[in-house]
Amino acid sequence: MGLDASGEIAYLWGVSTPVSSTSACLRGRCPRCGEGDIFASWLQFAPACRACGLDLSRHDTGDGAAYLTICVVGGLITVLATALEILVAPPYWLHAVLWLPMVILGSILFLHYGKAWLLAASYRHHRLGDTT
Ligand SMILES: [Zn+2]
Repeated sequence: MGLDASGEIAYLWGVSTPVSSTSACLRGRCPRCGEGDIFASWLQFAPACRACGLDLSRHDTGDGAAYLTICVVGGLITVLATALEILVAPPYWLHAVLWLPMVILGSILFLHYGKAWLLAASYRHHRLGDTT
């Protein structure tokens, strides 16, 4: 099992602890074992962890990942677009050509990691109904 340092300490106390939320998020791995891939596709969870069998089908991140994406990607693009407008004042078509693809690609990218982080945080705090 891929437990981190806190997982090892919890193991010694007889309490099963997931891998760190950050590690599971960045690697897209199972929050319980740290080995299995949690995604069936870029934005869809697999029904269960392929390594330890943790049931992921009951987990729903809801609008959490979308909310985080709107706040982070939208906020970042807004700041960058405002700075560009103040510093250079390019024509509006350049703003559209520059920021529209960045919003789309940034949102797709951030949604993936946001969903993984929310799943790992949910597992850590609610255990996804896990009794092991
Ligand atoms: Zn697993």
